[in-house]
Formats: sequence, structure tokens, C-alpha cells
Amino acid sequence: MKPPVEYPPTFLDLLNRPLRSLRLSVTDRCNLRCQYCMPEEEYVWLPRSGILTLEEASGLVDVFAELGVNKVRLTGGEPLVRRDLAALVKMIVRNPQIEDLAVTTNGVLLADAAQGLYDAGLHRVTVSLDTLRPDRFRALTRKDSHAKVLDGIEAVRRAGFKGLKIDSVITRGVNEDELIDLLEFGRQIGAEVRFIEYMDVGGATHWSMEKVVSRAEMLEALTRQYGCIEPVASASWAPADQFILPDGTIFGIVASTTTPFCRTCDRSRLTADGTWYLCLYAQRGIDLRTPLRAGASKAALISLIVSGWTRRSDRGAEERHELRTRDVLVSAEALRQDPHLEMHTRGG
Ligand code: SAM
Ligand code: SF4
Ligand code: SF4
Repeated sequence: MKPPVEYPPTFLDLLNRPLRSLRLSVTDRCNLRCQYCMPEEEYVWLPRSGILTLEEASGLVDVFAELGVNKVRLTGGEPLVRRDLAALVKMIVRNPQIEDLAVTTNGVLLADAAQGLYDAGLHRVTVSLDTLRPDRFRALTRKDSHAKVLDGIEAVRRAGFKGLKIDSVITRGVNEDELIDLLEFGRQIGAEVRFIEYMDVGGATHWSMEKVVSRAEMLEALTRQYGCIEPVASASWAPADQFILPDGTIFGIVASTTTPFCRTCDRSRLTADGTWYLCLYAQRGIDLRTPLRAGASKAALISLIVSGWTRRSDRGAEERHELRTRDVLVSAEALRQDPHLEMHTRGG
């Protein structure tokens, strides 16, 4: 294996953060309509001609890897809606710099796809699942696919994946009464559950602070059930804070809304049409597709990325947290004008 690329000492952003992790959105389409992500009836989609081919996407991953990116997460929209996802996995894992290649999926199409993804070399799977109740799932996603998600989770386990995670967005009045059930479910299937605070990202047009269940509230409810819960010292760059129950069960909480962690953020996002975002909340991205399709050399792409990252001062979630009053980030009308502002376009 090649030795890892040393960061050029100058290749940090303005807050001294390295670039290590890339979320690669492979499509903006989705087969669910989660209320916290895609609550509208109609959406404007990215033009198909602009969507990166597998070669273009994996070529860009190789460029990012040259610059020190060693973690890639495939996301969307729903990444499994892209039928050739396993082929993309194969292309990305050929690069020895990529030490961790994961997918975040809603699980609906996983039952048929899990083995192929495992055989292609995918390292890890995270399934988003907010409820164990089929009727609630239907109300939350507008689709009757709860059983398919459970089958998908089972297929991941059968395929032999290690490190399965279950991500659950907890929303007041929707599923805050399922914290314990979800944790017990994770324990049963050997998966780490991560509870995510409802975030005011683009696309969350029904967001309000009242609907956010904070990390503090979640810990309080879990302590009532389990007794003493201790924090686990974890990698400072990881978005989830980890905790341990008295019996050794580990779970996570991603508290981006009430306790943002921008100061340690080493992540950036590439949309399916090759626009590079330095922050989940960024209003503008950097177009990598146009130079790529115009035949830009690797050196030219590297210089574009370095110049973007070294000017980065984004700390979107912290800035939102500092606001005295907090409302929806982007209106439904503005989202129709620029679908790049949607969470489902830039990936979670
Ligand atoms: N469709 C895939 C899925 O749902 O796993 C991948 C893309 S989705 C945008 C990635 C993650 O973002 C999911 O875990 C989802 O629950 C989360 N997410 C979407 N909107 C959110 C919001 N408003 N607040 C917190 N998490 C959100
Ligand atoms: Fe739900 Fe993920 Fe689809 Fe958003 S992209 S609607 S979170 S399944
Ligand atoms: Fe990173 Fe932006 Fe999220 Fe903060 S809000 S953690 S800077 S992506």
C-alpha cells in the first residue's frame, strides 16, 4: 500500500481544519418523501445531462484522495436508486488511499443490493430508520416500505458487513417516544444506533425549534430508563458523540442543532452534478464538472480544490445556533429556483 499523502502544511482551511472526508451524492432522486427532508409535493431535479458518470465521479474521488481525503460516504437522494452503484464502489475501492468507503441509505432497495455492494468492496453501511412502526413509517415517508427496510437491514447482516449503523432523526410529536425501542432494536441486531437532532438544513421547510428534541432531552429520557450513561472518548472529527450504557451498549447522538461541532469539521460534499460544497449550509458551491468536462488536468483540479479549501471559513451550524430567532433556512420557492440548496441534493 502507498504511504498516505502528507498534507502540504498550508493545506488547511482558515480555521485549521484538514480535508479528510468527502460525501459523494450520486443522485438527487429519492424513493421516499421524509417529512424533515422532502416534505413538498413537487421538486425540481438536476438535469440528467449534468449528472457525473461513474468515471467522472470516481476520477474526482481520486483527485480528492491525492489531497488527503481517506473517507468517502456515498449518499444522495437515495444512493441505491442509482442502479450502477456497485460498479462505482468497485472503482473507488481500487484507490488504496480510501480507507473507509460507506453508504448512507434509506434501506428500501437494500435487500437486493447488499450482497453486490459487499462483493464490490463496500466497507460499511448506515441505514436511516426513524421508526419501528409501519404506520408511522408511512406517515413519515409517504411510502409503505417499512418491511423492505427491515429486510434490507437483515440482508446487510447476512452479507457480512461489519459496523452497521442505524441513523434515526428524532422529531418532537413524531418519534421521540421510540428512543428506547430503537436502541433495543440496534442492540438486538448488533448495530450502533445514532440519534440525530432535527436540523434546519435546506429542504426542511417544515422545521421549527419546537420540533427539535435536543441531545440533553434524549440523554435525560435514556438515563431514566437505563441509569448512568457515560460519554465515550471518540475521534474528535466524528460528527456523533458516543455514549455507553451500563451494560456496555454504545450509541451516538449527532447534535448539530443544539451543540454544533463545526470547529472540527473535515467534511465537504460533492453533488451528483459535480458541484463541491464546503459546508452543509453553504449557499454556493464550486463547479468541478465544467473544468472536468473541458479536459482540465489533475493538477488544475487539485489547484481549484486547494484554493477553495484554503479559503474556507464555513461554520454553518454554529452560525445558525448563534441566531436569536431561528426559522426555516431556505423557503420552498428559493429551493425551486436552486435545487442545489436541498439536503437531498447535497447529501446528508
Ligand atoms: N436517502 C439516504 C438516507 O435517507 O439515508 C441518504 C441521504 S439523506 C439526505 C442522509 C441523512 O440525512 C439521513 O440519515 C436523513 O435522515 C438525514 N436528514 C435529512 N434531512 C434531515 C434533517 N432535516 N435533519 C436531520 N437529518 C436529516
Ligand atoms: Fe428521506 Fe433520505 Fe430521501 Fe431525504 S434523501 S427523503 S432523508 S430517504
Ligand atoms: Fe461542517 Fe458546515 Fe456541518 Fe459545521 S455546518 S459541521 S462546518 S458541514
